[in-house]
Amino acid sequence: MFNGWLTENAARRVVGLAGLELDELMAQAESRDFRPIPLGVRTSLRLTAQIRHQETANVLGIVPGSDPELKDEFVIFTAHHDHLGLAPARDASGDNVYNGAIDNASGVALLLTMLRELVSIQPRPRRSFLIAFVGAEEQGLLGSKYLAQHSPIHPGAISAVINIDGINFLGRTHDVNLISMGKSDLDELVVQVARAQGRTVVPDLDPDRGYYYRSDQFSFAQIGVPGVYLHSGIHVVGKPEGWGKQQLDRWVQEIYHQPADEYDDSWNLDGALEDGQLLLAVALLAANQSQMAQWYAGDEFAATREKALADREKKQQSMASPSP
Ligand SMILES: [Zn+2]
Repeated sequence: MFNGWLTENAARRVVGLAGLELDELMAQAESRDFRPIPLGVRTSLRLTAQIRHQETANVLGIVPGSDPELKDEFVIFTAHHDHLGLAPARDASGDNVYNGAIDNASGVALLLTMLRELVSIQPRPRRSFLIAFVGAEEQGLLGSKYLAQHSPIHPGAISAVINIDGINFLGRTHDVNLISMGKSDLDELVVQVARAQGRTVVPDLDPDRGYYYRSDQFSFAQIGVPGVYLHSGIHVVGKPEGWGKQQLDRWVQEIYHQPADEYDDSWNLDGALEDGQLLLAVALLAANQSQMAQWYAGDEFAATREKALADREKKQQSMASPSP
């Protein structure tokens, strides 16, 4: 199977082949009654694929909840532990080790740090936690997809997933770039905690890049579980306006998914610490509140959630009253 992403320029050319204008179509797409238009353009594609089989594993842990009523429900933490491994070098240095220091050794390290805190928190959280260091994210979210599709916990009993994929290395920020914003009532918990930190929450700064659909929270959305996923803010404390965005754009251009994603002494991890505190506080609120997290009405994943909740209820009832 082939799938891929189209750049805007390529889309312009493809649409042009059909005698249409991308800008016009995009303007029309601003209106709610816009419907997709068949282009009538056909293409053929020839790919040479080399297949390598490798084994990997998801590494799981459980922190049991304390509430007899709620401890069968879970909040899940995910951070992928894989990166690209060995791949062709990008430059004359010949460095062919794709370390993935930020993406996502940093996320694994941050989550481990948060867990050290989580296990000693009193009073104990009401719901349980499943901690999942998942594999093969870079190969198409394979580890989290496997975990979600073969979930050891009924999908209707998973309140929320909190995913960490990369951390802020620029220092403290005034803002939180909440990729998952606008989808579920978990937003309200993030806003509440961020406000206490003196920070504002803004929706995905690059919605055209589809980040919500590109990391492990998406595997759980597909079984109906709402998630929290954030990226580094861009308004860095003590830096001139525009500096943070410039740094992050440069990182995406020069370092992301390249051998250059290596540990760097110049990182300032104060912002990552604050993000970790925020995510842990949000997780605790989600674990302790009486209701499980919910998608906002009409969200694309709300119907899947409804089904999962109904199925769980049915199973609970049949267990409570076994048939003769
Ligand atoms: Zn990643």
